[in-house]
Amino acid sequence: MNNEKLFKEALELLPGGVNSPVRAFKAVGGNPIVLVKGLGCRVWDADGNKYIDFLASWGALILGHAPKKVVKAVQEEAEKGLSFGLTNPHEITLARLVVEMVPSVEKVRFVNSGTEATMSAIRLARGVTGRKLVVKFEGCYHGHYDSLLVSAGSGVATFGIPGTPGIPEEIAKLTIVLPYNNVEALKEAFEKYGNDIACVIVEPVAGNMGVVVPEEEFLKELRRLTKEYGSLLVFDEVITGFRLSKGGAQERFRIEPDITCLGKILGGGLPVGAYGGKREIMDRVAPQGEIYQAGTLAGNPLAMVAGAETLKELRDKEPYQELEERTKKLAKGVGKILEEKGIPHRINAIASMMTVFFTDKEVRDFESAKSSDTQLFAKFFRALLEEGVLIPPSQFEAWFLTTAHEDKDIEEALERIEKAVKKL
Ligand code: PMP
Repeated sequence: MNNEKLFKEALELLPGGVNSPVRAFKAVGGNPIVLVKGLGCRVWDADGNKYIDFLASWGALILGHAPKKVVKAVQEEAEKGLSFGLTNPHEITLARLVVEMVPSVEKVRFVNSGTEATMSAIRLARGVTGRKLVVKFEGCYHGHYDSLLVSAGSGVATFGIPGTPGIPEEIAKLTIVLPYNNVEALKEAFEKYGNDIACVIVEPVAGNMGVVVPEEEFLKELRRLTKEYGSLLVFDEVITGFRLSKGGAQERFRIEPDITCLGKILGGGLPVGAYGGKREIMDRVAPQGEIYQAGTLAGNPLAMVAGAETLKELRDKEPYQELEERTKKLAKGVGKILEEKGIPHRINAIASMMTVFFTDKEVRDFESAKSSDTQLFAKFFRALLEEGVLIPPSQFEAWFLTTAHEDKDIEEALERIEKAVKKL
């Protein structure tokens, strides 16, 4: 079986041949690859090609592929049963790690994906405040829940319009969409609608318009205004949780949200999401409280042990400084290569995430991110793939490093990227 044959077969059986749209390579063209193996910072496709992987399962991996400890824990647990549907001890272990590591979380509820985490957080915020409106920012992605999969209308503070057929306008209208990093728009929205706003949800570092770092005032003002108006602040740390630092973006920026959404790294490569916060908020969730949310496979033992082994490693080793230094090295190296070729670019990087934008504008919101030359990105992506470097197949995504990317791997990646860029 090779990439082409497999993908052809997938096209007959799965919409677009995939189970998540970006995997189809529509934004970059060329034939999608089918991955069959991952080890450390490398992955192999069905044709036998080997890549240095900066996709890292969309940031879900921070210890690289198939880390021994995590794999062993999952194998041992699998022998004891795959799911019980009643409480197992590993839910408690992982919950304790989350509470210990994430500053604002005192209690947590596990779900199966990031989407479920944000969806449940919104319900909780609406239930707690008795309000309907949700504020989100343009270019931030919080999963495919109806209230969050909306785009901006025209103007600075606008009511959302459905981001896809299938979402009723009436629902999209309950979401206000604002530009990221824009304190004025935020103030304006709160002056107009503050008393009806249940919550503001934000990626505290945006990863889904490519990496965009929050300006200091932006997060501070978010915290101040939500408090003043009695709205809840929801940090969607599905990407940044356990990646920006062991306590996520909230620890790094020292701002405590009311509700935190987690996913990706939390499951150590298996499907897990979570939402958590202060006791008095989380105790409103059923069965302790009246706000309903449930899951057959929530707290699944395999996912719990994979997450727990991953978090323990991060808590004990704190690899964050090293990860950040290597990311800087990669960013600087790529910058130099593009500079030499005379290609306009901006590289946004923080902790172990980065994005190369093909623009000469500073990228601080979705509008400026969109100034990037996506045609050139597509060529760049394909050239890198040909040289054995895998990055996310869209301009508006983050590259991720893992602890398995050693200095020599970064150097090798840079050599390959240089070769690829020469051919552009
Ligand atoms: N929030 C953020 C910040 C994300 O990046 C994602 C997925 N990329 C989600 C939520 C949704 O998570 P999932 O794909 O697990 O549903």
